Amino acid sequence: MSRTVWHEMIRHCVEERPTEACGLLSGRSGCAETIWRMENVEKSPVAFAMDSRQIQKVLQKMALKGESLVGIYHSHPTAPPVPSPEDIAYAYYPEAAYLIVSLSSPQPSLGCYRICGGRAFPLRFELR
Ligand SMILES: [Zn+2]
Repeated sequence: MSRTVWHEMIRHCVEERPTEACGLLSGRSGCAETIWRMENVEKSPVAFAMDSRQIQKVLQKMALKGESLVGIYHSHPTAPPVPSPEDIAYAYYPEAAYLIVSLSSPQPSLGCYRICGGRAFPLRFELR
């Protein structure tokens, strides 16, 4: 992912604290170039959900830019960057990377996973 996206994602997660933040990342060839802040309709410190109409709108805007969905991020304000059972149960985009920003320690940390078939597989990522 680009460094700009990385910084913007961390900023969003810090701003939303203590609520979980969530959003989408789009780009080409698996590299996240654009960040789309999404509303957490759960407004919860331990869960997130996105509005399906907002998702559809953003997916259209991505297509207009010639980009596609490459990642879905959310924050864990007080927990480590590991998918919760709910994160795994409600992961509907097996082709996307699931990114979890943990704010439980002073330095934000990031977990990156592919989630499919009810399991989470760690993914490598790099900053460009
Ligand atoms: Zn989570």
